[in-house]
Amino acid sequence: ASVASNASCIFCKIIKGEIPSFKLIETAKSYSFLDIQPTADAHVLVIPKYHGAKLHNIPDDYLADILPVVKKLTKVLHLDENNTPDGEGYNVLQNNGRIAHQMVDHVHFHLIPKRDAATGLE
Ligand code: 5GP
Ligand code: ZN
Repeated sequence: ASVASNASCIFCKIIKGEIPSFKLIETAKSYSFLDIQPTADAHVLVIPKYHGAKLHNIPDDYLADILPVVKKLTKVLHLDENNTPDGEGYNVLQNNGRIAHQMVDHVHFHLIPKRDAATGLE
């Protein structure tokens, strides 16, 4: 076990498959999966395969892996402008610290679809 993994961390356990998850995209340095308590349909989390609580704790090469995955997921989820009905979009959110509403101390990016009520989706 290196500093890159923490045996008591719920997201490290998800990366290792010790806790089940609905996996979407896995790369050498990142893992993405559905949020267990979604605030919208297809609420996704993208995490580095490196245990660090806050953004500034994560090495650049792990961070560099993440945004292209978020971008790919917007296409997979049909959230980008070429694939979506009018009015759809998304939020990308990353909380650091309790005061900023972070509950799991392993860096994660939320990808939260925002759908127009007129589409009947969200
Ligand atoms: P935070 O508030 O730390 O930014 O967000 C943590 C997110 O992790 C929450 O949206 C919560 O629903 C999600 N979460 C917590 N535990 C689990 C889990 O065991 N599995 C999955 N898939 N998501 C989790
Ligand atoms: Zn962790």
